[in-house]
Amino acid sequence: MDKSANDVLSQLLSDAGIEYSAAAVRDIIKGVAASPGSDGAIGPADSWHQLVGLDISSALAGALTSELEIALKIDDGLGDGSNPSKARLADLRGELKAQSLDGFIIPLADEHQGEYVPKNAQRLAWLTGFTGSAGLAIVLKKKAAIFVDGRYTLQASEQVDEDQFEINHLIDQPADTWISENLKNEAVLGFDPWLHTSDGVVRLRKACAKVGAKLSPVDANPVDAVWHNQPHPPLTPVTLLGSDLTGRASIEKRQNTALALQSEGLAACVLTAPDSIAWAANIRGGDVPYTPFSLSFAILHADCKLAIYGDLRKYPSSSIKDLEQDISLHPREDFLPALHNLGAQKSKIGVDLSSAAEIITKTLTDAGASLQRLTDPCQLPKAKKNAVELDGMKQAHVRDGIALTRFLAWLDETAPGGDQTEISVADQLEAFRREGDKIQGLSFPTISGSGPNGAIVHYRVTPESNRKLDQNSLYLVDSGAQYLDGTTDVTRTIAIGTPSAEMKDRFTRVLKGHIALASAVFPMGTSGSQLDVLARAALWQIGLDYDHGTGHGVGSYLGVHEGPHRISKIGNRIALEPGMIVSNEPGYYKTGEYGIRIESLLAVVVPPQPETTEAMGAKPLLGFETLTLAPIDLRLIEKALLTRQEMDWLNGYHHRVRTTLGPLLDKKTQKWLELKCVDIN
Ligand code: ZN
Ligand code: ZN
Repeated sequence: MDKSANDVLSQLLSDAGIEYSAAAVRDIIKGVAASPGSDGAIGPADSWHQLVGLDISSALAGALTSELEIALKIDDGLGDGSNPSKARLADLRGELKAQSLDGFIIPLADEHQGEYVPKNAQRLAWLTGFTGSAGLAIVLKKKAAIFVDGRYTLQASEQVDEDQFEINHLIDQPADTWISENLKNEAVLGFDPWLHTSDGVVRLRKACAKVGAKLSPVDANPVDAVWHNQPHPPLTPVTLLGSDLTGRASIEKRQNTALALQSEGLAACVLTAPDSIAWAANIRGGDVPYTPFSLSFAILHADCKLAIYGDLRKYPSSSIKDLEQDISLHPREDFLPALHNLGAQKSKIGVDLSSAAEIITKTLTDAGASLQRLTDPCQLPKAKKNAVELDGMKQAHVRDGIALTRFLAWLDETAPGGDQTEISVADQLEAFRREGDKIQGLSFPTISGSGPNGAIVHYRVTPESNRKLDQNSLYLVDSGAQYLDGTTDVTRTIAIGTPSAEMKDRFTRVLKGHIALASAVFPMGTSGSQLDVLARAALWQIGLDYDHGTGHGVGSYLGVHEGPHRISKIGNRIALEPGMIVSNEPGYYKTGEYGIRIESLLAVVVPPQPETTEAMGAKPLLGFETLTLAPIDLRLIEKALLTRQEMDWLNGYHHRVRTTLGPLLDKKTQKWLELKCVDIN
């Protein structure tokens, strides 16, 4: 940085009465540069200026923006292109030697085990070139391997240098087995205790013990030591959500959770999931893509006090001022000492061992705490939306429905021209969404799949894969947005030109599953896994199925995927409760040809009770209300396959779409919607 630019920035800062030095501001900007970029960012593009000061002059704003442009040009080693893994691997092995390690494990994880991993924690991508969303590498002195699941074997073979890394299938050749087969007696395998859960460490330790090797935590991650220009941890401003959006003050939420802690005799519990902290404190941020939370840790004490540990620069003075009194903010560096103090008092502390980093449990137990395994106590209350949150969700879905309807009408008009591509239409959909009130960003990368690309369940279009929307094909679009009052996730499959009889048959069977789930009534205590069959039965009848879950929970202006409930074939025993939101997304995929999915979000409700429910005791029957409002393509329906009741459901749904959205649309789109929502008989 030349001196004059420094002087200009210093001068502008001092003119504005800001206490940060130019150097401190440049350090903040490094964190901003490592935060989600235009795709995946939450909030307006320059909302980060708040990190420097509120109400800043346009001259200072301009200076900050150009400083950010400079910071974004620094090569952090994560760009694609040439694969430098050989040199990086050599550097890493040098560092392992210096730390007296025979090997090291590199998971794709951050300290919070979240779905999206910030840039500074993309160590696996930096080392191997692999950019999928799940994976793990193990580097030994003479050998290295990467483990990916079935979705990513092809991608890994394209991105990873196979002279340096063996590519293994996570399920067929698990890392545990590989460790037992490749580690020698007395070898020391290092791991970063911030990046593995306690449960994960137990499994790894077993694998090492089998061959007499030792699993050893490192003090400093050896990848960080050799990663030049490693991005800084992300820095985005924390904002407070008022009770007009959250429906409940933080203190009410904490009181209920604290009661649960008291009844177990716990002095406190550790919160490591950023969405739990966001929910408990009624705060939001934008540190990882598509998800409005701030990365931090917290300790919830049995007396309701909540101590948050994170980068204090994320809290503009306006948010600190409005935080509730018994929520305290502490620097991230104070987190482990605080755990140590709890341990030293011989306290009984609750920790979710399936998600908390190993260093947390180790610090507590080493200091003398007794640990109690628990499930993150915020998960279940967070999942059960209150009346204000449900109302917000409904309003967000009206705005989202307007955007989607305008998009579908536009698509109908422009697709026959033959020039539209997966990228151009996804951009148009985003543009319609961004015209809506309260939008903060997208809730996940849009899945925009034409023809065979629609059959790839986790498809993400790139300039290389981009296809035109061909005539007589299907187009699948799965998309969603983050609004201040709710989160959306919707899939519609559209006929471009004339669909084949087979496409109509499969689409109608998927729709039958969608309707069966949407109209289900079930006794209190029923879990999503018990309902899953409803969504698949019409496909099973002719020997077909889909290889993904049927539904996931959705946050209230939080993660688009949240637990603890879900609808899937296997293993979810969490009972569905009133207020929970869950997606309803059966599909059918014919590899190489087309993909079909119909997805709407449902809220669990207590429907009018039939008189016969007396037989069920005091437990009411539950059902669903569909929140998503967007037409389902009638051109894809084979009427002969639908029962009278299914037609009634569809007509009723379309009636609701038409009457709710119609008056809010321009005349032309309204007319289009009327036609798309006609009754079928
Ligand atoms: Zn979706
Ligand atoms: Zn979904």
